[in-house]
Amino acid sequence: DVLLEVEGLSRHFHATEAPAVDRVSLSLGEGELMALLGPSGCGKTTTLRMIGGLEMPDAGSVRLRGRDITRLPVEKRGIGIVFQDYALFPHLSVRDNVKFGLRKLTRAAADARAEEMLALVGLEGLGGRKPHQLSGGQQQRVALARTLAVSPPLVLLDEPFSNLDAAMRVETRQEVRRLLKRIGSAGILVTHDQEEALALADRIAVMEKGRVLQIGTPDEIYRNPATRFVAAFIGRSNIVPGRANGMDVETAFGRLPLSRAANGRVSLAVRPEQIMIEADPTGPAAVVGREFRGHDQLYWVQEGERCLLVISGLGQGQGMGAPIAIGDRVRLRICDCVTPVD
Ligand code: ADP
Ligand code: MG
Repeated sequence: DVLLEVEGLSRHFHATEAPAVDRVSLSLGEGELMALLGPSGCGKTTTLRMIGGLEMPDAGSVRLRGRDITRLPVEKRGIGIVFQDYALFPHLSVRDNVKFGLRKLTRAAADARAEEMLALVGLEGLGGRKPHQLSGGQQQRVALARTLAVSPPLVLLDEPFSNLDAAMRVETRQEVRRLLKRIGSAGILVTHDQEEALALADRIAVMEKGRVLQIGTPDEIYRNPATRFVAAFIGRSNIVPGRANGMDVETAFGRLPLSRAANGRVSLAVRPEQIMIEADPTGPAAVVGREFRGHDQLYWVQEGERCLLVISGLGQGQGMGAPIAIGDRVRLRICDCVTPVD
């Protein structure tokens, strides 16, 4: 069932500049988790604030369960918001922070709900502490417990892991996904981190310069990026020219299948792991750079005027002997669908 429908949402701060948010449309199902992904300044926060009611749009509409909430004040929307800095009350205990949204309940019911939420986020027994006595990851979970305590149909999270170190971030993001799914709340998570979006979201909306370029599952976006920007921003891509004819394309690597139809001159996005590398003393290309990453190797390979990035699994392209070294001649093969972009 559709929970949220955003249509043509726009916000223009300065008449002389491009709009911060430019006709953004998206919809979200009940319980679905969407990442709003894009580089800094592309309009993610402004979009989220307009959905939450912290910012009024110049145009467009927001509907929640069919009801138009575009002009409704934030407190009347029933949407949960988790801020980047957690916004916990420093003078209140962890328990009282969580109880903050539960003022309509009796004291006993609010206490019980707060304990239940603290247990759910793995903080049982810490209700009496003050926020500053907790780690960053724990404070994040208190903020989440406070927001989820009222079971909002939708939770908005703006870069919620940016204050955590790398290891905590990976752990906490799976925790957040699990909690949202458990409570049954849908979520929109703003992030500039493609890895986070791929790992966390049911669907990703990729933004650039105020616009949504593509919405899809992580798999769809990775395998079939809509534009060159999406191909470069999510994962890494080589751009190779070709001449398309329906569902296949002529390239310097021979005739290849396309992930979607195109015709005429095209630029193709080719993922580094779609390229096979083979040592060959008579090969047309040469390795100019190499990076060992444990589970695989990166190679930068010069072929004519092009430099291609290749990722090769261990054992692959290496025989059983020494790996391919810088300066070695190689042959590259592509044996997968490639995607026409722009
Ligand atoms: P993101 O969250 O993707 O980094 P923002 O939504 O914060 O992007 O900002 C998008 C653009 O809008 C930026 O150019 C930013 O400077 C501008 N902007 C955001 N909020 C305001 C504001 N309150 N007043 C003026 N300009 C703003
Ligand atoms: Mg932002």
